[in-house]
Amino acid sequence: MRPDILNPLFAESQTLDGVGPKVAKPLEKLGLTRVKDLAYHLPERFVTRRVIADLDHGAEGEQVIIALTATEHRAARNPGRGPYRVMAQDEAGNICALTYFGRASYTAKKQLPVGEKRWVAGRLDRYGDMLQIVHPDHVETSSAAHLARVNEPVYALSEGLTQPKIAGLVAQSLERVSALPEWIEPGQFERAAWPAWSDALKLAHKDGHEQARDRLAYDELLANSLALLLVRADGRRRRGQALVGDGALRAKLDLPFEMTGAQKRSVAEIEGDMRQEAPMLRLLQGDVGAGKTVVALEAMLIAVEAGKQAALLAPTEILARQHFETLRAMAAPTGAQVALLTGRAKGREREGLLMGLLNGDIDILVGTHAIFQDAVTYRDLGLVVIDEQHRFGVQQRLSLAAKGRAAPHTLAMTATPIPRSLTLAQYGEMDVSRLDELPPGRQAIDTLVFPQSRMEEMVAGVERHLATGQQAYWVCPMVREANGTYQSDDIAAAEARYAALSERFGDAVVMVHGQLKPEIKDANMERFASGRAKLLIATTVIEVGVDVPSATLMVIEQAERFGLAQLHQLRGRVGRGSEKSRCVLLRGETLSETGKKRLSYIKESQDGFFLAEKDLELRGGGELLGTRQSGDAAFRIADLEQVQKLLPAAHADARLLIERDGGLTSARGEAARVLLYLFERDWGVQLLRGG
Ligand code: ADP
Ligand code: MG
Repeated sequence: MRPDILNPLFAESQTLDGVGPKVAKPLEKLGLTRVKDLAYHLPERFVTRRVIADLDHGAEGEQVIIALTATEHRAARNPGRGPYRVMAQDEAGNICALTYFGRASYTAKKQLPVGEKRWVAGRLDRYGDMLQIVHPDHVETSSAAHLARVNEPVYALSEGLTQPKIAGLVAQSLERVSALPEWIEPGQFERAAWPAWSDALKLAHKDGHEQARDRLAYDELLANSLALLLVRADGRRRRGQALVGDGALRAKLDLPFEMTGAQKRSVAEIEGDMRQEAPMLRLLQGDVGAGKTVVALEAMLIAVEAGKQAALLAPTEILARQHFETLRAMAAPTGAQVALLTGRAKGREREGLLMGLLNGDIDILVGTHAIFQDAVTYRDLGLVVIDEQHRFGVQQRLSLAAKGRAAPHTLAMTATPIPRSLTLAQYGEMDVSRLDELPPGRQAIDTLVFPQSRMEEMVAGVERHLATGQQAYWVCPMVREANGTYQSDDIAAAEARYAALSERFGDAVVMVHGQLKPEIKDANMERFASGRAKLLIATTVIEVGVDVPSATLMVIEQAERFGLAQLHQLRGRVGRGSEKSRCVLLRGETLSETGKKRLSYIKESQDGFFLAEKDLELRGGGELLGTRQSGDAAFRIADLEQVQKLLPAAHADARLLIERDGGLTSARGEAARVLLYLFERDWGVQLLRGG
């Protein structure tokens, strides 16, 4: 069944009344391209509003409806940085501000002409000695008594949409919701006293109905687990090859250190998997600097000992090059042939490489995506190692698995320490090895917190640092919006910092961020990695990979805006050489409680797994899990609390369903297929069709 054709829920949002191109665009920004997306666009919160005659009657924090007349529009002095304020007066002459951030100011200009009365609904709060309403939910020209409701849903918006508009579209989409065959086991239903799917959707929009929301979250988790387990089952169905290494090459390795217990254990787990005929699907999880590379090398040597080839896939050209240099040096005593293939290899060089792969002269190939192009043929590929796993979507992994004659074993590596409770959600299709022990003798990184206002001192500090010949990172926050673009304020701020620091340090400064063309990004990164540039201005692009031992200082601006896990990842870029390293966190003037805690944890600890748990704790309920860049494990409905509460059951239920009905052909299986479409995990279904 193709539910996208058959079911009106899968029709495009434009089939709803009142959706022309002007509305379709902001809807798309929110990811609401189909009717079902609108039905699943659950309210962010519910408010109960009261009409007040004048501001004196409203309490701070209260949701009010009040008649206001705009007296003045105040644009930020520095456009793009501060908020846009509309000063307004109630009928008694009390003043308050209507405050807008970013692009929302366009709406304000249109909706609140000076001298005209409007009914404004929003949350009253205080800014200094002034009352204000930030981003009012409604601005109406006529009476607003109808807004005084109990439990009014408030939806996430994007520019060009208003609350009434989106509420109307959601209502239309809910009219198209009818009962679907149930995918949840009856037992699970009874345990939780959940409503049926169609009722759950309607209830979740009407009030904060907890069972309804839980049911929908469970559905999403079930869909995710099902899809991951289908990937796993598909991998298992492929004919793999049992690889047994005799240890001859590994014995010749001449490592300058003793492997840690965690490394030895991981190698043993990998070796155990590779001995099986079913292809390995294992994730090696270990903090930056935990020593994943040598574990990967051991795994690759097992493959070579067994007469096969191994390939290591890196997310960027620079990382591929770094891995190549390291692995070639380490593998030299073993005699295993290591080669590098990137998109840059052309002509003769490329042909030589391809030949070497085909005739088996090359044992270990390191490279970027180029190593899996159609033209690249291996003599006998036994193992694929994927570095920085989270950059690759499940779909990409699937196309890799199709490469070998028999399905190769797969080892994925990630430097993101994920809390145990979330590993299942993100990597449910894989077995996990954890490097939870750092190699001995790691230098602690001094972590300091300074107010952003001491910027001038900071710049002077960087100048002294660079004068010693060492390098430094300067990180600016750049927040990615739901639609994948960045906040324009952030780009402007990063560019401005770059301009200011270039003026001071000349061409010793380079910049990288996600909006730059890949070639330019790579070239800048390489200038820094090779030492020609001394100061790298960056956004979170540098999170992954890059190893520059003489970069021993990192400055992070507005550090409180980063998540704990992210700060930890960033900081891991320094402290990689023998010199003492420092990380300076610049913070804004006012910090939330959470912001304070974050900075104090990051100051105290360098243990990624600990920080990941704390990160989860601080984020808590209400926070969506949308961090995985490949986008295939981001949840739209389930928040962190629900993930922790419901995932174990959802995963177990998914497993049970797959065990009983791996082809999803039973009535419940058919229903589950629809579920996979609803949550855009239809790549799970595609696998069924293929096999
Ligand atoms: P990551 O897990 O971030 O990829 P690497 O594999 O790059 O970490 O290792 C970081 C550094 O630690 C490398 O210089 C590596 O040689 C070194 N190293 C790895 N394992 C050990 C160990 N058991 N003892 C000492 N140093 C080690
Ligand atoms: Mg690494």
